[in-house]
Amino acid sequence: MSFLQTTLANPVSAEPHSLTLKSGVNLELLETGILRVSPAQPGGHRIVISCGIHGNETAPIEMVEQLFSEIKSGELRVANELLLIIGNPPAANQAVRFVDENLNRLFSGKHQSSSTQEARRAKLIESYVTEFYQRGEEPRLHYDLHTAIRGSELEKFAVYPYLHDRDWSKAQIAFLEHCGLEAILLSTKPAGTFSYFTSTQFGADSFTIELGKVRKFGDNDMSNFADAMQGLRELISGQEDFSRELKSIQVFSVVEEVIKQSEALTLHVADDAKNFTAFPKGSLLASDEGYEYRTQEDGERFVFPIINIPIGQRAMLVVAPTTL
Ligand code: ZN
Repeated sequence: MSFLQTTLANPVSAEPHSLTLKSGVNLELLETGILRVSPAQPGGHRIVISCGIHGNETAPIEMVEQLFSEIKSGELRVANELLLIIGNPPAANQAVRFVDENLNRLFSGKHQSSSTQEARRAKLIESYVTEFYQRGEEPRLHYDLHTAIRGSELEKFAVYPYLHDRDWSKAQIAFLEHCGLEAILLSTKPAGTFSYFTSTQFGADSFTIELGKVRKFGDNDMSNFADAMQGLRELISGQEDFSRELKSIQVFSVVEEVIKQSEALTLHVADDAKNFTAFPKGSLLASDEGYEYRTQEDGERFVFPIINIPIGQRAMLVVAPTTL
């Protein structure tokens, strides 16, 4: 049975079971969509690779399934401690972003004020991730894989969660560039995202990684993800190189977080406009009761616009080029 099939067939809960491969690698299904992979020789890094936090983002789920099948067959060597996560199986079964609410707004305890299935799942994922990271002192990494609702001028990019007093890791950004990413977006505020949770709680090098546009299971052109898959294989097998230099990856910083304050909110971007579309200075990007945002400089760009959300949630980010 595959990790993906088992998860989709048991969307709410699964019986724990484990399997030791001939190589000594141990696979342990802890709960539905949560699988721990332990190398024969403990150590290395402690890596969480997650996907399907949004249920309809199928390409990353297929990537994780592919990595699982290569591990299970013995084709892919395992040199690091891994936790593979398929985030929201009920939403994946329904081919929707979420069932009740956006799972990626519920981490860092934000699930406590909600009783939806996503809130329960966020709590469960937090507890397994906590257990995983606390098992050892190895350097902690987290790559949360996504695809985006709309097209993007820069197709592959990562969101680096706000680090408070820590420094951005150039080595990690260079690794992401090696994985085919074209841009990195530096966050400037706390968030309810999975990557912010692992970054803040465990000091992990954590990223939300956007790899292209949402498509249905089976409709993804997996050749589009070859560089990212290669990077993940290098990570899993202990061939990762975190000493690369930055080349041409573009760096952006968030300059405005547009929060939906009322039903009057209007985003002045076309429905088919791509993420990272650049605007001249003075362009009106968002308006709400008593609020408007006009670009402060030439070349500011918008990312992740979404209007159909509850009041109080983030409707759009505006970003501007920066340097590390
Ligand atoms: Zn997503």
